[in-house]
Amino acid sequence: MKKEKIDDMLASYDTKDLTIATVCSHSSLQLFHGAKQEGFKTIGIAVGEERRKFYDAFPHAKPDEFLMVEEYNQILDHTKELQEKNAIVIPHGSFVEYLGADQFLNLNLPTFGNRNVLMWESDRDKERSWLESAGLTMPREIKDPKDIKKPVIVKYHGAKGGKGFFIAKTYEEFKKRIQSDKPYTIQEFVMGTRYYLHYFYSPLQNNAYQLKKGSLQLLSMDRRDETTIDEVQRLGSIAELEEIGIHPTFVVTGNIPIVMRESLLPKVFKMGEQVVEKSLELFGGILGSFCLETVVTETLEFKVFEISARIVAGTNPYVTGSPYSAFIEPGLSTGKRIAQEIKYAAKNNQLSEILS
Ligand code: AMP
Repeated sequence: MKKEKIDDMLASYDTKDLTIATVCSHSSLQLFHGAKQEGFKTIGIAVGEERRKFYDAFPHAKPDEFLMVEEYNQILDHTKELQEKNAIVIPHGSFVEYLGADQFLNLNLPTFGNRNVLMWESDRDKERSWLESAGLTMPREIKDPKDIKKPVIVKYHGAKGGKGFFIAKTYEEFKKRIQSDKPYTIQEFVMGTRYYLHYFYSPLQNNAYQLKKGSLQLLSMDRRDETTIDEVQRLGSIAELEEIGIHPTFVVTGNIPIVMRESLLPKVFKMGEQVVEKSLELFGGILGSFCLETVVTETLEFKVFEISARIVAGTNPYVTGSPYSAFIEPGLSTGKRIAQEIKYAAKNNQLSEILS
């Protein structure tokens, strides 16, 4: 979607009467809750009654209205009606996945954040070149499976939520498990503890960790709960289970709140800064919320294995604030922070700088 087209659309919007819209899934309860707290009207886009129904149980997070569709790509047929309601779309992981990258990129609605980031985030080579050229350390990539000498994790391209990923400790194990018809990447399996860091970058406001342009906040962090790897030890060691053909999987089922030792926080901010500064150079910047998925090793080094360029579900434990956002504003969630940024930009006639 051409930026000029979105800017023209915004010119016709009544910016005192904006509506926040998102797909009913992932982190939508938090997004609606935060938008309502900041005084926005809200629209939930839902497929099927099942998706809609449970919002009745959460009145503070229930959207003011629903746009019911039979399939997600029907959202494209409703853009006019959403534009008439001055709708701004907040994307999340499921939103992009359900709609598909191409349709998301062409969605004819003002969308929070910079859609150009998708190209850099969804292509593993581009993602690596962005993060490494920013100065971050990623797990080593093993190009030739014959070079597997230590544990590796094999990731199929485009696999969502860790689906189908597997661990191999030798070339033989790799050969046994690989589905070679699917494109894959082999990464060093980093030993350590996982932290998923939730940042917010504002190109507009200078009231946090100062960057060349705008400022950066750390709103929270989580650890993902992944089935079956995280609880597999209840049945036996991974080695024992592998012997009888039971292999651990990495399917995300939930998120666990966490804080890290305070001495690591300067590194956390430095990494966020490097990612943002490089993104500004490469594609106009990663705007708003993003997450670095990291492993901290025993020598207290961060290895970053993934970036998510929008709100992540790991922020959901913190709808009433986190041990970090409490130091910014009591009760501040990522959903609320996004709504605040839109409100600030609308008031200062800067919506074009945070929407695409
Ligand atoms: P991803 O889809 O890349 O976020 O990976 C899914 C899960 O696999 C992560 O949440 C981690 O638990 C695990 N994982 C991914 N990459 C690595 C790595 N290089 N070393 C150790 N664990 C990893």
